[in-house]
Formats: sequence, C-alpha cells, structure tokens
Amino acid sequence: MTMSILIDTTVCTACRACQVACKQWHDLPAEQTTNTGGFQNPENLSFFTYKLVRMNETIIDDKLQWLFFPDQCRHCEDAPCLETAFDEQAIYRDSVTGAVIYTGQTRRLDAEEINYSCPYDIPRKGPDSILAKCDFCNDRIHNGLAPACVTVCPTGAMQFGTRKKILAEAAERLEKVKKKFPGAALLDPEVTNVIYLVAFDPALYAKNAVAATRQPAGISRQVALRRMMGPVARMMRI
Ligand code: SF4
Ligand code: SF4
Repeated sequence: MTMSILIDTTVCTACRACQVACKQWHDLPAEQTTNTGGFQNPENLSFFTYKLVRMNETIIDDKLQWLFFPDQCRHCEDAPCLETAFDEQAIYRDSVTGAVIYTGQTRRLDAEEINYSCPYDIPRKGPDSILAKCDFCNDRIHNGLAPACVTVCPTGAMQFGTRKKILAEAAERLEKVKKKFPGAALLDPEVTNVIYLVAFDPALYAKNAVAATRQPAGISRQVALRRMMGPVARMMRI
C-alpha cells in the first residue's frame, strides 16, 4: 500500500528538526553556507541537503506573517522524473511503499533533463554526476519505522501513514484550518504522496510549492522517442 506524508505548515515552527534528522539518518555532511539576510539556511536543496525548511517573511492583510515550508521530494504518483529517465536501474518506484528511488545509475542520465522534468525542482546533481534527493527513508519504512523527519517533528506538523489515512487526515485538518484561514488549501493531493496544507497563496511559501511546467519547450525528442519505443529504448540506451 502506498504510503504518504502530510505536512501541515500551519503548525510548523521552522525548528528545522526535520532538516537535521534527514541529514543524520542519511549521514550527509554539513555544507559551507553564506548569510543571505534571512533565517533560511542553506539557501537551497543540494546533493547533500534532501530536505530544506524554506522561510519567507511577508505582509498579509497588514500583518507580518512568517511562512514555513519544509521542502522535499513529493514521491509523485506518476513521477515525471521516473517517466523521463525511462531506466528502472536508475530511477524506480518501490511497489510496496510508493517511494521514488534514485540509484547510483543516475550518473548515466541527463541530469538537466531529469531536473527540468520535476515540477517541484527537487533532484540535484553531485560531483560524480549522480543525482540525489529524499528517498522517503524507504529503509526505515520497510523496517516498520516512520521517516526520520516525521519522527522528530515536535509539533505534529508531519504525519505519516497509508495514502488513504493521510488523505483523510488532510481533508479533516483542512476543514479545521479553513475556519481561521478561508484561503487554506492542500497542494496537489491527487498527484503527490507528500501533501502540504497551506494557509495562504502557495506562491508565497516557495517558487515550486505547486506543480509547475518546467520543461522549456515540452518534452525533448529523445524522451518522446523513449516513450514510443518502450522497453526497446531501454535496451538500446536511447
Ligand atoms: Fe520525481 Fe520531482 Fe516527483 Fe520527486 S517531486 S518524484 S523528484 S518528479
Ligand atoms: Fe516544522 Fe516539524 Fe520540520 Fe520543525 S520538525 S521545521 S515543526 S515540520
């Protein structure tokens, strides 16, 4: 059964415990960062940072609002990155958990093409051309544990469970949040397995909070050819 995460940003305090827990579980190093004038750190996702709490200070209805958005891979239902790669040894979907997993074989993919295919700007290329992103803590899930980020969240902003359970909880929370914030919404719940609940316009939280078409001019000829030729394309490494 596909698993999902709900991230209710209305109770996120930007403590960054999830960001740190992700680094710890995946044994990822800290990075040299620069002060960009705000509290968000580092500035963006990277090969070594799979989860990043984005922060935006803004004025809404004459009130200062701090908007927090713990950004990560959405483990899409029909993942565009997986479709674009068309190489199950490089990118595959775990049939038990639904996690979209990248392997070391991503080094043979066109990194730019994979990045553009992602509507949320998630995959990042490393020094040896391998692509990396959140793996849903798939090893933990297979051993009966929740993802590390969910486990450490002190406010209950992050919830984990079967897709059915999480969709029901998301709908329930949305109803409650709408009483205070009428414009509240769930972001792309039909197509993602990491579902965000936001109180305001999603564009205020992050550039790619909702799915964007990032492919500059539709799919490339190569991707179209791969889709047309199916498994033969994989064998021929087109
Ligand atoms: Fe792939 Fe991007 Fe979807 Fe993650 S969010 S599964 S990287 S398309
Ligand atoms: Fe927000 Fe929870 Fe992450 Fe802290 S651990 S930043 S409260 S989602």
